[in-house]
Amino acid sequence: MTDGAIEIHGLRKAFGTNEVLRGIDFHVGTGEVVCVIGPSGSGKSTLLRCVNLLEEPTAGTIRVVGVDVTVPDVDIDAVRRRIGMVFQSFNLFPHLTALGNVMIAQRKVLKRGKAEAERIARENLERVGLADKTISYPAQLSGGQQQRVAIARALAMGPEVMLFDEPTSALDPELVGDVLGVMRSLAEGGMTMLVVTHEMSFAREVADRVVFMDDGVVVEEGPPTRVIDDPSHERTRAFLSRVL
Ligand code: ADP
Ligand code: MG
Repeated sequence: MTDGAIEIHGLRKAFGTNEVLRGIDFHVGTGEVVCVIGPSGSGKSTLLRCVNLLEEPTAGTIRVVGVDVTVPDVDIDAVRRRIGMVFQSFNLFPHLTALGNVMIAQRKVLKRGKAEAERIARENLERVGLADKTISYPAQLSGGQQQRVAIARALAMGPEVMLFDEPTSALDPELVGDVLGVMRSLAEGGMTMLVVTHEMSFAREVADRVVFMDDGVVVEEGPPTRVIDDPSHERTRAFLSRVL
């Protein structure tokens, strides 16, 4: 089966002698929302970074929207254009407005004209609830607003899959809800999403499936009500008792 948006088979990744991913198999179907949970250091970020080719897998295969990204001659830039990524740190350009930040990759990577890039930037800033902040600079925005600009920036590229790596972990608690709200509306709009998060209520309500990782392997996966509320494995229970 190669129909899924993301298909991962036998994925291994070592840094030197430290094997961080030790044989990962899972898939994300088109339009599906999968949340990855697990302790710090379990390999969640490395997994996402392998999907986006920010890390080169040591072994295994990863297909993203039908393209095997692990073959040597893959067009990395072409694949990355189809995958949006949002990190814990927003990494906006401080000297550009919100609008400028959402336009720049459209202009430089997709070679869109100025008027088109601006139109698409405005549409996506509106989509994340920031229509009134187009001329604000990052320093004038809250962390939650900056993260929503980062989401708009990713969406403006027209991705088929969105990867989120703990997008709310750096935010003050009162700002988390707005970002999760944007992610929830994206999910409801049918976006394919792979989300690393510690927000168990988001995972419970929005995820189609939850994957629990520990020590470089998938320990268990299933519907959120099963994995979060009735885990099968002691390691999952121990983790959940710490975060819930
Ligand atoms: P998580 O996101 O679940 O906290 P990570 O994927 O960030 O876990 O890290 C898993 C392990 O891989 C950690 O032990 C970390 O130190 C190691 N690691 C991650 N990136 C690198 C790297 N670039 N070089 C060496 N070790 C790394
Ligand atoms: Mg991480």
